[in-house]
Amino acid sequence: MSLHDDLLEKARASGLRRTKALEAILTCLADHNRPMTLAELTSCGHLSDQCDKATVFRLLQRLSDKGMVRRLGLHERAAYFTLLLPGVHRDYLICTDCGSIEPIDAPCPVHKLEEEIRQETGFVDLYHELEFFGRCPKCASA
Ligand SMILES: [Zn+2]
Ligand SMILES: [Zn+2]
Repeated sequence: MSLHDDLLEKARASGLRRTKALEAILTCLADHNRPMTLAELTSCGHLSDQCDKATVFRLLQRLSDKGMVRRLGLHERAAYFTLLLPGVHRDYLICTDCGSIEPIDAPCPVHKLEEEIRQETGFVDLYHELEFFGRCPKCASA
């Protein structure tokens, strides 16, 4: 099964109605495989002729209620949306000036902690995503 089919199946299982717009959002997010802003999503090829910003936003909210999408970044000015995929983990670096966001390549510092928490609490399917905030080199030198 492709990632795309997988996502649609998951959306269906969690009670979301399969609409063209829903399919288009999931396709955009899966194709780009990085956090995207509402504006980027709305103008993304699959979506631009499907629906307006408000509809895209509502769908994103529903997807994040179902734990399929996560909202990242500076929530007021520059929110980004990314797919939450089982077994895929990323930590992010976010600029508080321009709102840019990038995944961190360095090995994750908290995997060991996660394992300890799992053993101590008995929780399963633990995951985390970290957001580090700061000023990017471009903003810092401006
Ligand atoms: Zn910046
Ligand atoms: Zn991590």
